[in-house]
Amino acid sequence: MTQTLIGRVAVVTGASSGIGEATAKQLAAAGAKVAVLARRADRLERLVKEIEQAGGTALALPVDVTDTAAPVAAAAQVATEFGGADLLFNNAGVMLPAPAAELAVQQWQQQIDLNISGLMNAIGAFLPQLIASAAEKGVADLINTSSIAAQNIFPSFAVYSGTKAYVTHLSRTLRAELGAKDVRVSVIEPGIVGTELQEHVTDPGALQWLADAKETITWLHPEDVAQTVGFLAAQPARVNLQQVTIMPTRQAA
Ligand code: NDP
Repeated sequence: MTQTLIGRVAVVTGASSGIGEATAKQLAAAGAKVAVLARRADRLERLVKEIEQAGGTALALPVDVTDTAAPVAAAAQVATEFGGADLLFNNAGVMLPAPAAELAVQQWQQQIDLNISGLMNAIGAFLPQLIASAAEKGVADLINTSSIAAQNIFPSFAVYSGTKAYVTHLSRTLRAELGAKDVRVSVIEPGIVGTELQEHVTDPGALQWLADAKETITWLHPEDVAQTVGFLAAQPARVNLQQVTIMPTRQAA
């Protein structure tokens, strides 16, 4: 792979599986030093070993991003080990669909806590480093993972969709604010990607919908999104791809 990201310092949240794990490998293979964040320390350690065996550099930081203090401590460790981050792939998320009338309030809260508050905690912890890195290196990237659920209507997914609409709109607004500081903000809206995300779903209707979708659609692989992140980060400093929708070819909406 072309080493387009040599000299870059990336932070990936939700890196213990799925899109985050694939993206950490992608960014490391492109030459970035990568700090990987999630709660499962064993999975992070395994990922770091894999990256190192492939010749890359990585740091495992077991962190619950819903705990406001933890990402701040992680940011301090990144600064000490790698120098400040110039790329945050803000990706940790959870999808727990259920009909609203079932009042699955704990699952509502879980999605809001991670997809919104966790995302903001990571931004709060790493934004000073992104701004400082952009001033020093000429560019930095904040790349947030949203979903096509931010735009399209999926019954039973109202709370998840609401959290992702937040991520998309936040990203657009932050872009306007941070561009002047050479921090590019991008949002990625994937269609269905085969990951652990679907394994947490318990709602029978949503499970049936996913089973049907598996029959008719070849789902995206996490590596497809990872390559997109690598592509965004490797653009010349003047280019900010603001929003990318990446769909399985056979998924209509
Ligand atoms: P996964 O379930 O494989 O990944 C989710 C990641 O988030 C895991 O690494 C998990 O690790 C981490 N995570 C969960 N809770 C926390 C927490 N409190 N603190 C830190 N990390 C946490 O799913 P995906 O890779 O699919 O999901 C990545 C993102 O992509 C999500 O934002 C999701 O909404 C979005 N997305 C996914 C789509 C899909 O079809 N798969 C489609 C559109 C968007 P751990 O449990 O170790 O903490």
